[in-house]
Amino acid sequence: MKAQPKASHFIGGAYVEDMAGAEIQVIYPGTGEVIALLHEATPALVEQAVASAARAQKEWRRMRPVERARVLTRAAAIIRERGEELAQLETLDTGKPIQETRVADWPSGADALEYFAGLAPTVTGETIPLGQDMVYTIREPLGVCVGIGAWNYPSQIACWKSAPALAMGNAMVFKPSEVTPLGALRLAEIFIEAGLPAGLFNVLQGRGAVGASLISDSRVAKVSLTGSVPTGQKVYAKAAEGLRHVTMELGGKSPLIIFDDASLEDAVGAAMLANFYSAGQVCSNGTRVFVQKGLKDRFLARLAERSRLIRMGDPQEDDTQMGPLVSQAQLEKVTGFIARAKSEGAQLVTGGGRGASNDGWFVEPTVFADVTDQMEIAREEVFGPVMAVLDFETEDEVITRANATEFGLAAGVFTKDIARAHRVIAELEAGTCWINAYNLTPVEAPFGGSKLSGVGRENGHAAVEHYSQVKSVYLGLGPVDAPY
Ligand code: NAD
Repeated sequence: MKAQPKASHFIGGAYVEDMAGAEIQVIYPGTGEVIALLHEATPALVEQAVASAARAQKEWRRMRPVERARVLTRAAAIIRERGEELAQLETLDTGKPIQETRVADWPSGADALEYFAGLAPTVTGETIPLGQDMVYTIREPLGVCVGIGAWNYPSQIACWKSAPALAMGNAMVFKPSEVTPLGALRLAEIFIEAGLPAGLFNVLQGRGAVGASLISDSRVAKVSLTGSVPTGQKVYAKAAEGLRHVTMELGGKSPLIIFDDASLEDAVGAAMLANFYSAGQVCSNGTRVFVQKGLKDRFLARLAERSRLIRMGDPQEDDTQMGPLVSQAQLEKVTGFIARAKSEGAQLVTGGGRGASNDGWFVEPTVFADVTDQMEIAREEVFGPVMAVLDFETEDEVITRANATEFGLAAGVFTKDIARAHRVIAELEAGTCWINAYNLTPVEAPFGGSKLSGVGRENGHAAVEHYSQVKSVYLGLGPVDAPY
């Protein structure tokens, strides 16, 4: 098999197999071919992974931050050296075009390792003078953290979670999505090669039940999930039973607002990036594109023209710009949304079909216009290359409509009026926003959602707080004043 790893799991610094676990077939979305066979983690392996993480963390937390940072920096360098090989693996795992996986997935993971390596040694506490006495604070690691990944950015997610966790002195047990389980195993290998002590980053394969059993373990201090809202609700509830720390990176139905003074080419380009990159399987996508009436016709004409030029095809070919969806289930979900959008009266501007004959799970870049707020396509997360264009007239109207959703992950505004740009962004209920740009997620910037889209933040200085806790130490410097 093309991409068979040495074994399914990585525990205590080594590959581990237990054939008793239910089978997981890894399928290359470009052809539907099975490229690896793995097994779900059994309860014994869950126990082994958490025990190994807890043991290793006791030593790791005592190391100087610069020493921890050195390991992460080395891991980032290895990722960059093996960029091509890792991009190919990511393409096999996800079906994303190689031109994307070369620049976005692992490279953004390496950025996170470098960034948190640089940040860790700068984290300090406070000293709080109290006259004669004083208090000082220490930012301490949480302990064993569980990371649970979605299938759309498997390696980036594994890095975005493990980099701040390890930098701050925690250990991690990571459960990748059962749909894309390969990248995390490779990351575990790279960490060992970079000098990370065994047991600090473990990978367990499995479906939801394996994730749930990890969260129930009393030795686990935190869970960070990237996934859908329904899964987030379950994971958050389970974490609450043990009062564990949580970070929830969930779904969205984000607005991208285009005023009629915007640069047409930039607005069209951003709307395409916000809907078609990774075949639309990006959580922060701007899937409700609100276009002001004065620009609507020109916007749709140019959008259709440029969208038809997107080269869809074999993800392993250098010039392919859009690959298939990740799975048969996702294909069925997305084509169902397209059919219902048509029947609800949305106007199909371009796409809507499966594209050129191919074995994989392809859907053409699809644009619907004249979408209204009540249509399903404007309310639910599609997670495919399907853009909904809605018209609007005034600023107040579009703000109200943009916020009329339970999600709050991201939002974008295109306008040349700088005051309006900031005024509108200030009113939008979303955790991650862009002005005259879309979907750029540099590690320096905090990333995350509000409302049902999540709690906590990944990346930026904010992530340090989500992988550590404050200890405050009162230092008595005088005699003890006891009333007895
Ligand atoms: P999903 O919710 O189906 O699964 C996510 C992960 O949770 C998987 O690893 C799955 O095995 C695990 N899981 C499922 N049930 C569980 C349970 N009861 N307990 C513990 N773990 C459980 O999501 P998906 O289909 O893999 O990914 C797509 C979703 O992820 C979309 O909604 C998308 O918006 C969201 N997403 C969000 C972000 C973000 O950063 N906000 C990024 C990428 C994807």
